Amino acid sequence: MNMELSRRGFLKAAGAGVAGTTLGAMGFGEAEAAVLAHVRPFKLTTTVETRNTCPYCSVACGIIMYSKGDLRKGEQADIVHIEGDVDHPTNRGTLCPKGAALKDFVHAPTRLKHPMMRKAGSDRFEQVSWDFALDRIARLMKHDRDANFIAKNAKGVPVNRWTTTGFLAASATTNETAYATYKVVRSTGIVAFDNQARV
Ligand code: SF4
Repeated sequence: MNMELSRRGFLKAAGAGVAGTTLGAMGFGEAEAAVLAHVRPFKLTTTVETRNTCPYCSVACGIIMYSKGDLRKGEQADIVHIEGDVDHPTNRGTLCPKGAALKDFVHAPTRLKHPMMRKAGSDRFEQVSWDFALDRIARLMKHDRDANFIAKNAKGVPVNRWTTTGFLAASATTNETAYATYKVVRSTGIVAFDNQARV
């Protein structure tokens, strides 16, 4: 039997389920099985929950990502649903329209997933490894800081400024990570420091 389950039908089925359970206890198990056969299982039952932070803005709402596939068994994890984290003190389970559309952002074919580099003279970006990218950034920052750091101004007053490199931080962080990022960046003397959330 193929049954379209409307809201009213569901309530009827739920009532029938209770009756079916009672009937089952009395030895009418087939009635209960027939009802259960038409109740769709809750779609998140077999998923793995992972807590994270919405990457869009500095509100930094808590989210829960639901994925199928067990990484511990070498399976590929696939995020099938994302919703607000009701236990998070910032958003209490709510999300704005951008946060509510996070699953599409995660699966977007144009999403940037690796560091990219455009070599001198090239007209295109190429994928590079994280190790290469981090080493190169660190090396270029060191060169620039050594060449342009201003320890004192014209009057001999210590200013410790580094004005030739800027730093743009992301907003998908906790308060603690943001605090540590701020301290590290400012300790280098960088003045031009902003956050993606203000873009
Ligand atoms: S859900 Fe909306 S308000 Fe919350 S962090 Fe994401 S973009 Fe900001």
